[in-house]
Amino acid sequence: MAEDPNDWDIETKSVRGGMARSPYGEISEALFLTQSFAYESAQAADERFAGGPGFIYQRFGNPTTQMFEDRLALMEGAEACRATASGMSAVHASLTGLLRAGDHLVAGRALFGSCRWIITEWLPRFGVETTYVDATDLEAWKNAVRPNTKCFLIESPANPLLEVTSIGAVAEIAHAAGAKLVVDNVFATPIFQKPLALGADIVVYSATKHIDGQGRVLGGAILGAAELMTEAYKDLLRHTGPALSPFNAWVLLKGLETLELRVRRMTENAGKVADVIAASGKVRQTIYCGRPDHPQAAIIANQMTGGGNVIAFDLGSREAAWRFLDALEIVDISNNLGDAKSMATHPCTTTHRSMSQEDRLQIGLTEGWVRMSVGLEGARDLNRDVGRALDRA
Ligand SMILES: *Cc1c(COP(=O)(O)O)cnc(C)c1O
Repeated sequence: MAEDPNDWDIETKSVRGGMARSPYGEISEALFLTQSFAYESAQAADERFAGGPGFIYQRFGNPTTQMFEDRLALMEGAEACRATASGMSAVHASLTGLLRAGDHLVAGRALFGSCRWIITEWLPRFGVETTYVDATDLEAWKNAVRPNTKCFLIESPANPLLEVTSIGAVAEIAHAAGAKLVVDNVFATPIFQKPLALGADIVVYSATKHIDGQGRVLGGAILGAAELMTEAYKDLLRHTGPALSPFNAWVLLKGLETLELRVRRMTENAGKVADVIAASGKVRQTIYCGRPDHPQAAIIANQMTGGGNVIAFDLGSREAAWRFLDALEIVDISNNLGDAKSMATHPCTTTHRSMSQEDRLQIGLTEGWVRMSVGLEGARDLNRDVGRALDRA
């Protein structure tokens, strides 16, 4: 009986999914660093441009990039995936492919800073209006709907305070309004949350985070049903050109091979570090999706299978937060996340500094918060480093 890759375990998908061997039979996926492709005849060129099988130009597709797309689609359980040059090009294209002048977007208010910029500063130039809502308040989503609402956007868990939204419940409200739901799934990763299965129409990733996970390249991806992906994004991506470099696609393919292993170990470490922080008596609040005291623990139990590797905690003041960061000896002060190396940041003065204080207060982001991405170091070393920094905070 022939193997169906769709039935494989996620570990098998992550190592073997999408593999397309060249005639040389290489074990490691080949890196096709080529912009264009030669055709055997004028007729063959004609057939390819008419939509037949085969590659035409790197901006449209590339064999290495396609292996990455096929592997990630398999892991996500999506019919189709298109890779992009960064997470932001994925978010931007995911919205502009669904929206046009006169349309209305509803978005959860806690979002990655650049996503907020696209929504607040950029989309209005093209006649798209947005209503921000408290993503945990289902009535607020319902009340925000207008006759011209075409799209909902959520990040869950959200940056930086790990607010969780019921994807299924928001999908129902979106669909009742005739709108599509886009979910930024970076924090949960394909290992712990499957938004499409929960009712979302489109999932986006910054592959820069856990999928690379080793601090090397930028990348992104948009995933969804084949028909919607073609209708909303095929021409947009071809002609506006946010194509992922095949070199970066090759790095990210290798990242996918170990994604499950890395994310599970980081999550194990994060659980231990979160317990040290919460038990320290130095913080006002610790938020971690793997702890029973997370404000949306009941939703997490229904839609996530792991807590992930990011922790947020409130040290009460900017001074205490900075003292904590400056006392770290192993953990880096850095705004990235999902990396093998643990890192911590002060969102108010880094990732979320362009948000007004009023907007920050609406998502509960005050000066004492620190966001930590737990990596792959030994848990004993991390606990010691964090414990010492808490003592000095
Ligand atoms: C990092 C990030 C992005 C942007 O990704 P880039 O690869 O840096 O462009 C978008 N959404 C979330 C949730 C992120 O963490």
